[in-house]
Amino acid sequence: MTMPSSSSAVGVNRDAITLGPNLPMSVFTSAKRWNPERIGALALYCSDGRWGEAFDEFCHRHLQIPRYDRWAVPGGPAWLALQSDELGRGETAHEQIDFLVQAHQLERIVLITHYGCAYYGQRLGQPAEECLAVQIEDAGTATATLRRWYPDMRLETYLAMRTGTSLSFHGLQD
Ligand SMILES: [Zn+2]
Repeated sequence: MTMPSSSSAVGVNRDAITLGPNLPMSVFTSAKRWNPERIGALALYCSDGRWGEAFDEFCHRHLQIPRYDRWAVPGGPAWLALQSDELGRGETAHEQIDFLVQAHQLERIVLITHYGCAYYGQRLGQPAEECLAVQIEDAGTATATLRRWYPDMRLETYLAMRTGTSLSFHGLQD
């Protein structure tokens, strides 16, 4: 099939790279190489981008789960600990995770709640230290919810802590 001459208007260099018929020229090429193997693990944590690289480092280097699935939502595990929820968010969460459990063959789910989470700060109207007890309780509730949904799933729950600029991870018992 001959491409219409207008395709050159968007700057596709057909000599350099083979693309689909209508893609504009790439603006960036990742240094990462595609690896099709799934690791069968998912981490649920807060969206807070200031923690993202530390979460990645913890999962990659400590838990040894490269290419793990990320489920990042405000408050992280809080989404699986909703008590009375008129908005149906718990149901939405269940549907999303059900999809990943089946489509991505999950065998392991890691829950991380983090110190200084704005979701809890707003919800409780308390400083970071005062929110920790509720966060830890929620993480336990979230773990119990997952255990009920997926009895054979390997579950782990952690608190990500900050002291000054130092970030540390702590296992939570449920
Ligand atoms: Zn947060």
